[in-house]
Amino acid sequence: MAKRNVMVTEEMAITAAAAGKVANSSSSHFSFPPPRGNSGSVNFSNFKKLLTQLEINGSSGRIHGWVDSMKASSPTHIKSGSLLASPVAASHDEEYENWMKQHPSALKIFDEITAASNGKQIVMFLDYDGTLSPIVDDPDLAFMSENMRSAVREVARRFPTAIVSGRCRDKVYSFVQLAELYYAGSHGMDIKGPAKQPKHTKAKAKAVLFQPASEFLPTIDSVYKALVTKTESTHGAKVENNKFCVSVHFRCVDEKKWGALAEQVRSVLKDYPELRLTQGRKVLEIRPPIKWDKGKALEFLLESLGFADCNDVLPIYIGDDRTDEDAFKVLRDRGQGIGILVSKLPKETSASFSLGEPAEVMNFLRRLVDWKRLSHKERGHHPHERLGRLGIK
Ligand SMILES: [Mg+2]
Repeated sequence: MAKRNVMVTEEMAITAAAAGKVANSSSSHFSFPPPRGNSGSVNFSNFKKLLTQLEINGSSGRIHGWVDSMKASSPTHIKSGSLLASPVAASHDEEYENWMKQHPSALKIFDEITAASNGKQIVMFLDYDGTLSPIVDDPDLAFMSENMRSAVREVARRFPTAIVSGRCRDKVYSFVQLAELYYAGSHGMDIKGPAKQPKHTKAKAKAVLFQPASEFLPTIDSVYKALVTKTESTHGAKVENNKFCVSVHFRCVDEKKWGALAEQVRSVLKDYPELRLTQGRKVLEIRPPIKWDKGKALEFLLESLGFADCNDVLPIYIGDDRTDEDAFKVLRDRGQGIGILVSKLPKETSASFSLGEPAEVMNFLRRLVDWKRLSHKERGHHPHERLGRLGIK
């Protein structure tokens, strides 16, 4: 039987932070670009070691262990006894403040970000759920506000912009409804460029349609149907067909039933040993066995836009979930670009900066648009002295 590893969950990361695992930061100063690696940041290595040994296809005891961890760290349980009583209380918490020193608000260091883009083309990558829209109980109702849509439209007018989501591409498009964007659905396994090439796209940019997991479509469709049938007895369980991957949502299921639901998923996957299982925010995701993720999608899109091996590009990636970490890691490893995690709680992340919630993402996008407008008016003026201070050539 093939073993499947389960990724560290957001909830578990919260537990680790609540348990006081956030290392003290000795200084409020941060360097830009930020140092690579997580030294001095959050120490989750023990949690990771434990969790990466968790096998969803193993014994039912392991399944229950996973469910217990998720329950223990869910907001209702956290309220009763841990250090992080709520996102609001967390803002007063020493660990949270330390974490914020390590991952400053992108709004607070906005001027430094724009200074770093001097002479470079900003390319914007945006996750959807929890980044542009609030997380809601029913994933079919995760609408973005008209104000947010307008902010994204304005950004896309000025910079190549892509939405990178775990959802089916058509579904994300139905929420965002902006034809001028690139869309990477199914965690980047379904990428399509805008119908019309925006004027800021490089001449060597290619028309994009990329579906590296096409051969698995029948398998994914089959496992989707099997999961729907198997889980229909669990009230609140929702199976979402994301075309190249499948999500089983736990959000509306009574916590007491989480173990049973995870068991149902496990029993279906026994017949699909080639598929991979990963975990996100109260969701289990079933994926094809290809090495493709949001980080690979980011690299693919940069190349498609004509920015392969270029120094004159500044990718900015904003996302809130574990799957976005693959993109943050790519930026960190390239030593290029800016990763921004959307979170009100301390979490292990490879992102350098943070924003608290979608409303702050919207503010950030608007400021970027305003800055670009202004810099057009004052063409030629760049704050060189600031760049020197930040050690950026
Ligand atoms: Mg998200």
